[in-house]
Amino acid sequence: MIQNVLVVGSGSAGLLAALSLKKKIPQLGVKIVRDPEIGVIGVGEGTTPNFPNLLFDYLGISRADFYRRAQPTWKLGIRFNWGPRGRFDYTFGRQLDAHWPGMERPIGFYCDDDFDNLELPSALMRADKVFLRQQNGCPDIQPWHAFHIENEQFVAVLESFAADWGVEITDGKIVSTDTDGSGVKAVLLEDGRRLEADFFIDSSGFRAELIGKALDEPYVPFSKTLFCDRAVVGGWQREDEPILPYTTADQMDWGWCWRIEHEHHVNRGYVYASDMISDEQAEEEFRRKNPKLPDTTRIVKFSSGHRRRMWVKNVVAIGNSAGFVEPLEATALMLVCAHVRTLVDFLLHCELEPTPSMVDLYNEQTNVSWEDIRDFLGLHYQLNTAGETDFWRRCREETDLSGIGDLLEFYRENGPTGFCRYRIGKWESDFGIEGYLVMLVGQRAPYDKRHKVTPAEDTIWKQRRHQLAAAAAGGMTVAEALQYVRHPNWRWHGDAQKSA
Ligand SMILES: Cc1cc2nc3c(=O)[nH]c(=O)nc-3n(C[C@H](O)[C@H](O)[C@H](O)COP(=O)(O)OP(=O)(O)OC[C@H]3O[C@@H](n4cnc5c(N)ncnc54)[C@H](O)[C@@H]3O)c2cc1C
Repeated sequence: MIQNVLVVGSGSAGLLAALSLKKKIPQLGVKIVRDPEIGVIGVGEGTTPNFPNLLFDYLGISRADFYRRAQPTWKLGIRFNWGPRGRFDYTFGRQLDAHWPGMERPIGFYCDDDFDNLELPSALMRADKVFLRQQNGCPDIQPWHAFHIENEQFVAVLESFAADWGVEITDGKIVSTDTDGSGVKAVLLEDGRRLEADFFIDSSGFRAELIGKALDEPYVPFSKTLFCDRAVVGGWQREDEPILPYTTADQMDWGWCWRIEHEHHVNRGYVYASDMISDEQAEEEFRRKNPKLPDTTRIVKFSSGHRRRMWVKNVVAIGNSAGFVEPLEATALMLVCAHVRTLVDFLLHCELEPTPSMVDLYNEQTNVSWEDIRDFLGLHYQLNTAGETDFWRRCREETDLSGIGDLLEFYRENGPTGFCRYRIGKWESDFGIEGYLVMLVGQRAPYDKRHKVTPAEDTIWKQRRHQLAAAAAGGMTVAEALQYVRHPNWRWHGDAQKSA
């Protein structure tokens, strides 16, 4: 029976795993080892709605505490300055998997010309507002949001929760491991210490100390679908720019560029394919389009793909050690949150004595989640008919989307109907059918079954979108809403744990 768990790494993945294990299985001894000299990756700042859900609803962390210590800003979705429309918004609400009264077809059939103000989050995004106002003037904070959060600050906050919850953190560099047929017995530190455990979580980031170096589990690359493998990252202190309630993804000549909105800092990163342009060329375009960048930027290299199995013997990899896909949809922390919960459930169900079939099922489920993300991201590139460079031509011609061939064929014949849901993968991800429809309709993917809009439908279409736009125009900016939640009289509804 598993009694002691050693988590390798205290980046966001290791800490979220350790906190979840400790919270949900309190009888487990949970320790972390990390090397402060190696440090954390320091990027990874956009999230999806399963992230606040894990923090507040699953772990029961107090919102008051978290907002005070981590200083997040809200994210309603992603603005894509991308593709043949030039711009479309992907919210965490339901824009297209929806049917309005009086309209014959789902909403996607009406979006040939307009893709704005389809539901409240999309109207708020369009107006650069984050929440409506309640009658008493306070922000009406809805669950369809995620956060922008600074990676290093977030890690520091989670470390303080770890200390409060009895998760011990040891500093030291792992230089080797002691393994036998059943897996890892101990890790050996540079200063000679030996740390033993029954079960290990490998959250050592791209170094993959256990799953890669010790157990040699092969890496399955996504290079046939996702061509980008590098980012040049930089940012500047916010001046008078408003804090936008969304991440922006700008199409670039050889990839794309994120813009993440922290309260006092704007973070930018240009993701590109290093076999098509040099770092210097990327830097030149990045600077030309972002004149506020400081003198220093940094290059981050990555390889999209995942370990063939995430759970091998007594080691489970969570975070960048398990796999990585480029940050186009900020899915890394989404997967960390999902996989941590799955692991806890599996351990509870097998009463801390994992069976081979449980391990197989875990690996099957986590594999499907990686493949789903690979295909979803590949769609962003392959459908983009607007890019003129060799990079975009390559995306249109070579992106391997065989994993969702059935969906694409179904869509081509039938259009943006909700029945497309039966042609997407088995994994219920945060983007789901809504995400696929937004990408297909947002990028004007052609389909046969066109709907002829009646005059009555056209009236409803215009009226409803006008009402949503008017409501959103009276909403609150991020800066205003931050003032409210920082007021001493502000109380978070349903806060489980009181501030420390
Ligand atoms: C360009 C880029 C942009 C990204 N953007 C996003 C985003 O917007 N949203 C998102 O969700 N994710 C994003 N990510 C991913 C995100 O950064 C990570 O998934 C997330 O922070 C988790 O990282 P981690 O904890 O797995 O690894 P890390 O943060 O790298 O932590 C690794 C830990 O392991 C420890 N360690 C390593 N080797 C040893 C050793 N030998 N001995 C002891 N300790 C060791 C380190 O000290 C550290 O504590 C992005 C990633 C990249 C590359």
